Amino acid sequence: MLDRNNFSKEAELVSQWVQNYLKNIDSFPVKSQVQPKDIYNQIPDSPPLESENLESILKDLNEIILPGITHWQHPNYHAYFNANSSVESLLAEHITTAIAAQCMIWETSPAAAELEERMMEWLRDNMALPKSWEGVIQDTASTATLAAILTAREIKTDFRSNVEGVPNNLRVYCSKETHSSIEKAVAISGIGTKNLVKIEVDEKMRLIPEALEKRIEADIAQGLVPCCVVVAIGTTGTVAVDPLKPIARICKKHDIFLHVDAAFAGTALLLPEYQWMIEGIEEADAFVFNPHKWMFTNFDCTAYFVKDVQALVKTFEVLPEYLKTKTRGQVNDYRDWGIPLGRRFRALKLWFVLRSFGLNGIQKRLREHIQLTEYFAENIKASGNFELVLPAFLNFSCFRFHPPHIQDEEQLNQLNEELVQQINASGHLYLTHTKIKGKYVLRMVIGQTYVEQKHVDHALEVIKSMAETLV
Ligand SMILES: *Cc1c(COP(=O)(O)O)cnc(C)c1O
Repeated sequence: MLDRNNFSKEAELVSQWVQNYLKNIDSFPVKSQVQPKDIYNQIPDSPPLESENLESILKDLNEIILPGITHWQHPNYHAYFNANSSVESLLAEHITTAIAAQCMIWETSPAAAELEERMMEWLRDNMALPKSWEGVIQDTASTATLAAILTAREIKTDFRSNVEGVPNNLRVYCSKETHSSIEKAVAISGIGTKNLVKIEVDEKMRLIPEALEKRIEADIAQGLVPCCVVVAIGTTGTVAVDPLKPIARICKKHDIFLHVDAAFAGTALLLPEYQWMIEGIEEADAFVFNPHKWMFTNFDCTAYFVKDVQALVKTFEVLPEYLKTKTRGQVNDYRDWGIPLGRRFRALKLWFVLRSFGLNGIQKRLREHIQLTEYFAENIKASGNFELVLPAFLNFSCFRFHPPHIQDEEQLNQLNEELVQQINASGHLYLTHTKIKGKYVLRMVIGQTYVEQKHVDHALEVIKSMAETLV
């Protein structure tokens, strides 16, 4: 066991390791190249009986673990959505781990609760969210969406479902493009996935409000009870933005809880020029976005905002004798604002990031990512062998290899599947794909904190040269 009064040598080793890792991260294959069980088989089947020194643990970290890591902080990580980080965030996380407080209620660390309250206000006020809303940090957007759907369920059933169980006629609506976390939440909530209605999307992959209203009215006519609508501001496949305002109007008319999932694209609301994305938000009930995707704050950190805190708290509140405190009612006891009792001190890393970057610094970096994406998209468009499948939006674009002499869709799909596999196997970059109206397309996300134009040029080079070898 290390001595808590004397570990500067070990701390220095780790600190050096971290600096070297980030300094040399460009030299690693972005996507781990190992096969299943490669790592497992190198780990002994039982722990050592006697103490090992840190040097030997770090040696194995380099030799055994690192090859099995996919480097999310590599500037050529362009897969899924980013989960970016920053030096500020990692330093704050280090301190959080040193303090290692369990921040379930105000009294178990007042600073954690009150800094969290302030950080949520900072974000709310700079993202054009209504001033009267309140926020809480959750681990993931999946958890926040589950909280939203549970709250919607309780409101719709007069807070009886928590006690009596869930009626089987509640209905939840979202577009066909929304994230799988909605389906998971509907399953866990007891509402049942057969009561999740997936609404058609338009040519830009956005939910069609008229189709939504028709389904709601048909359901009501059948005696079903519309309970919650989930709007996506930035879908996972193509970053489509559902039209919030007309959907909010429909929800208001039929008294339906409206939850807004902006897990990835929400960060762009820090830019005034993108605040149109949530026009109509005053009529919604809940909003979630992930600072742990594009806001330079390492996983996990999800910001969940609600219009009516009382409804949220009433959904989750439990009050065993051992958690009764004198300050209850005067302070935020966040254990009642979500699912887990135990909570990490996550506000600290937001505070470090927001202060060290400054709002201007964050905006500057976001705009740079958006510009790099436009640069990438222009370049793809200009090269005769590729096609931009949708206009670039935010830091996202999608494209496919489409040499003019090949018109067969099946063949194009196969080519693009092969292309993405070869690119990822090369280790130079990491891309993922989606399907748009039957077309297999490559997604390109440019959102790593330290990405520069040279990395985008490198990506273009790799994509083009690998494609050439396929035909
Ligand atoms: C990433 C994402 C999620 C899930 O986020 P987690 O924090 O991993 O649960 C949900 N919705 C959208 C639109 C996303 O992009």
